[in-house]
Amino acid sequence: MKLLTGSRGAMFRITAAIAIFAAAAGCAYNETLGRNQLLFVSQGEMAQLASSAWSDLKKKEPISRDPKYTSRVNRVAPKIIRAAGGNPAQWEVQVFASDQLNAFALPGNKIGIYTGILDIMDNDAQIAAVMGHEVAHVLFNHSGERYSQAVATQTGLAAGSAVVGGSQAGNAAMQALGLGVQVGAILPFSRKHELEADKFGVRYMHRAGYDANEAIRFWQKMAASKSGAPPEFLSTHPADATRIAALQREISLLK
Ligand SMILES: [Zn+2]
Repeated sequence: MKLLTGSRGAMFRITAAIAIFAAAAGCAYNETLGRNQLLFVSQGEMAQLASSAWSDLKKKEPISRDPKYTSRVNRVAPKIIRAAGGNPAQWEVQVFASDQLNAFALPGNKIGIYTGILDIMDNDAQIAAVMGHEVAHVLFNHSGERYSQAVATQTGLAAGSAVVGGSQAGNAAMQALGLGVQVGAILPFSRKHELEADKFGVRYMHRAGYDANEAIRFWQKMAASKSGAPPEFLSTHPADATRIAALQREISLLK
């Protein structure tokens, strides 16, 4: 820390070092997204970081084996994963018994969904909307981007070397994964990432044969029942109206 609070010169050298590191290892144009992504870490490295967090979650959060939930999720999830170009055998989708209106994704093809949110879903298409959204977060390595931004702006070289050296992930890494210090607390992604996940989520659900308009009905329902901790995909930003307008635009473009 002493280095960081030192002279402007030292600070500049560190910043410059990060910038060079970013240029060499990080900034890549993603054609599907149509933008540059700052990525110091690959999907595989993020999957490694996430694997212990996922194991912890499964120990601490009760897993539901109630077929009332699992049969619906197991019916929808593989269709969405295939529609997104993935192989369902390489994904793990888990239902957690909790009243929370929440779902989340972790690198390494892991998705968690709570019974609480499944209880308010009217049909499979609404499950597909949430699955599509979460699958998109994983496929576009949004957690990796969040991690890379944290490395570049907050935690400096210490976190960078932790990634490169593959050593234990600290709080910064947990936050980058979207997990609070308390395991099970899901942090929202940025507005940009949320809108991207919405956009590609409706494409996947449409491709899988579901009515994409159900996504709008579902987000409206979520907006109306907003309470307690913000669900991963219902953060304070983007504003609900912005999000729904963006979804409507996207759905109008579906073929
Ligand atoms: Zn999200």
